Amino acid sequence: MDQRLNGIGMTSARTRERLLQRLTEQGVKNPAVLDRIRNIPRHIFVDEALASRAYEDTALPIGFGQTISQPYIVARMTEVLLEAGPPSNVLEVGTGCGYQTAVLAGLVTRICTIERIEPLLLRTKARLKELGVKNVRFRHGDGYEGWKAQGPYDGILVAAAPLTVPETLTQQLAIGGRLVMPVGGDKQELIRITRREQGFERERLGAVSFVPLQAGLIGAT
Ligand code: SAH
Repeated sequence: MDQRLNGIGMTSARTRERLLQRLTEQGVKNPAVLDRIRNIPRHIFVDEALASRAYEDTALPIGFGQTISQPYIVARMTEVLLEAGPPSNVLEVGTGCGYQTAVLAGLVTRICTIERIEPLLLRTKARLKELGVKNVRFRHGDGYEGWKAQGPYDGILVAAAPLTVPETLTQQLAIGGRLVMPVGGDKQELIRITRREQGFERERLGAVSFVPLQAGLIGAT
């Protein structure tokens, strides 16, 4: 088990250091974020056949037509979310394989995460438990609706792109809270929305490419 988590060869600590170096070269600065990337074994979030590629800076398939996000994007979004100080109550939309969840879990007090594909969520739940990640609540649900009962949130992170920003999500932000998400169709961009006393501030953070945020649930049949 320890060996599985620590990794050998293409999943070893040395291979991971090369990824860290690449992220640093691309401008990721927050040492706490880099440390999480160093310590989370990304190879256990992908199929065993793809484990040797887990520390390449690339998205990889995780089944159900979905992907594990590129490490650079996970690092960047986490850094952007944390910039004004670490949020305590975070909503994550699009749990997927849970890699982003695991990176974030060590940097915030708690995460409420929503995934629309139930079998994927169940697998992820077991994986995060195995990793000892405890401050996460899981929900099989539609991220377009957010998770109002657990809010308001001082951070919301969305890992799939809607065509426009869902107002339900901005409404679940606390004052001072920020929402980091991709938005758009063929051309997407990463944005950060901060809730102020009077309205919302919107920042554009560059071009990105995510799977679409889709309405409706897929159950475990
Ligand atoms: N966070 C993941 C990446 C997930 S990919 C990582 O760390 O790698 C995006 C995920 O969003 C997919 O699992 C997809 O099923 C999910 N998703 C898409 N639309 C959704 C919605 N409306 N509500 C909840 N999850 C959604």
